[in-house]
Amino acid sequence: MKTHPLNRKDFLSITGAGTIASVLTMSGLGAFLASCAGTKTAGKYWYLTMPGQQPLPYAYNALEPVIDARTMEIHYTKHAAGYSAKLKELITAEIKTGIATVPVEKILSTISSYTTAMRNNAGGHYNHELFWQNMQPPVKDSAPYGDFLTALEQAFGSVDNFKTAFNDEAKNRFGSGWAWLYIDRNEKLKIGSTPNQDNPLMDVSAIQGFPLLGLDVWEHAYYLKYQNKRADYVQNWWQVVNWANVQKRYTTYKLG
Ligand code: MN
Repeated sequence: MKTHPLNRKDFLSITGAGTIASVLTMSGLGAFLASCAGTKTAGKYWYLTMPGQQPLPYAYNALEPVIDARTMEIHYTKHAAGYSAKLKELITAEIKTGIATVPVEKILSTISSYTTAMRNNAGGHYNHELFWQNMQPPVKDSAPYGDFLTALEQAFGSVDNFKTAFNDEAKNRFGSGWAWLYIDRNEKLKIGSTPNQDNPLMDVSAIQGFPLLGLDVWEHAYYLKYQNKRADYVQNWWQVVNWANVQKRYTTYKLG
């Protein structure tokens, strides 16, 4: 991935915003974070995704038998790499300055002011960087834990209920898209889905919030192994979910 852990001070310095006040009044990520996080400001710890594809955190075959090596290789080196490369071109063309210092979250939170190509490729880059980080080699009985588990149970009744509802979102998303677990603006855990490469950070999205976990249900993510059986892919995918990373995203967001 790389989501870079940065605090508010770092965010100010990389965006050149200068002061806390200007961040809180800016229309981009600052406003989004402020609306999500209420009065949390100084010390708020955040993860920011920068342009450029990051190394895959495991080998192509590391997720077998859940996701086969060939699918991972094509997905990472062709599909996802394409979004990341195109995003850099688009940032150069549409933003012009500060290419290396624009957090993708800031672009996504104001995506309505960019082209459709930017929407598709900024979303594609962010979604896949998150997707790789949120997976790991299969672990028997891998399960959510800690504060995140408690919140999950409060929101959905049980982990099984959560998975069933998430699976329904993934299975029922017509065509290409993503299923999400995210924190909404009231700091409630929610599930939903988005079409294409949209995600809950986008100001144009029907669901709004900070993504914790996303599942790619484009056919390119599973077709070689699962063909038309998306439901089997969705069900098996839980074996490779990196709950530690999801918990970290949750804790980072909540405690800031
Ligand atoms: Mn994909």
